[in-house]
Amino acid sequence: MQENIPAAIVITEEIVEPKLELNDSTDIIGDFILDHEYFAADAEVLEIHSETKDHVVLEAITEQKIDRSVENDEVKKVVEPVEETRVILNKLDIEKPLIAVVIDDMGINRKRTLDIISINAPLTSSFLTYGSDLKGLAEKAKDSGHEIMIHAPMEPKVEASLAPDTLKTDMNKDEIEGLFHQMLNKFEDIKVSGINNHMGSKFTEDEEKLGYIMNILKQKDMFFLDSKTSAASKGKALAVLDKIDFAQRDVFLDNENDYEYILSQLRKTETIANKKGFAIAICHPKSQTYPALKDWIESLKNKNFELVHVSKIIEAINK
Ligand SMILES: [Zn+2]
Repeated sequence: MQENIPAAIVITEEIVEPKLELNDSTDIIGDFILDHEYFAADAEVLEIHSETKDHVVLEAITEQKIDRSVENDEVKKVVEPVEETRVILNKLDIEKPLIAVVIDDMGINRKRTLDIISINAPLTSSFLTYGSDLKGLAEKAKDSGHEIMIHAPMEPKVEASLAPDTLKTDMNKDEIEGLFHQMLNKFEDIKVSGINNHMGSKFTEDEEKLGYIMNILKQKDMFFLDSKTSAASKGKALAVLDKIDFAQRDVFLDNENDYEYILSQLRKTETIANKKGFAIAICHPKSQTYPALKDWIESLKNKNFELVHVSKIIEAINK
């Protein structure tokens, strides 16, 4: 492995390039790889963040330290110009760049969940399944125009307080399938389009165990959105193998619960959508996420993006 290779193409507008070198002082928490089918080349964005208490970030940072080899393999593939946005939009058969915003961890903090639900827009609400009044809240979200997903708790590598219904790698096939069916059943007749993983850096690396979940998704015609809490997640490989609708997270919006920070992450999401035709952002029902999201959605009226359910992007890219 060569040292000092360029770590990534930076397609954000922020000047972060000089810092983008893989060294011990660098923490990498987000990445995405542009898909072969829509681009002349793979490209990767590495986001740099520091000092946040969010469990997802801490987990991802730990992952990156462990999985440096994976990152290095991926960053070697970089550096060729991407196609014009117009060409990409034609390929995807869409008019405007699509943006989906998924709100994870819904259904636990009732007040914050209701704040998010009060935003009448095509957002995607991803519910943890152990909160009270799950069905009632999901119904309200649906009435507000949200798509409903399950935010399925999966075992992380790092120590963390786990959801009571966490899918774990030491469970057998029956236990995993039984637990997942219990989650699905809690929504009764409400349509659940797909799932994404809550934590899950350990579980998503386990091809066999994640495979049991993927089989059920396939039977039920549901998609898997990989939250990418591990660079070595088997989500994409399994989805390709079994022809399951799949996408992965591009940006975490609220690793810092700060209004201006969240708006800057939304601008980054717009930049990515302009470059590849679509972008999927994930956020949480945090106190500053709600006002930032509300104001950003208002600003979309004057911009050339379409806010859509995540299933619409998945449909466009998996066709
Ligand atoms: Zn979560």
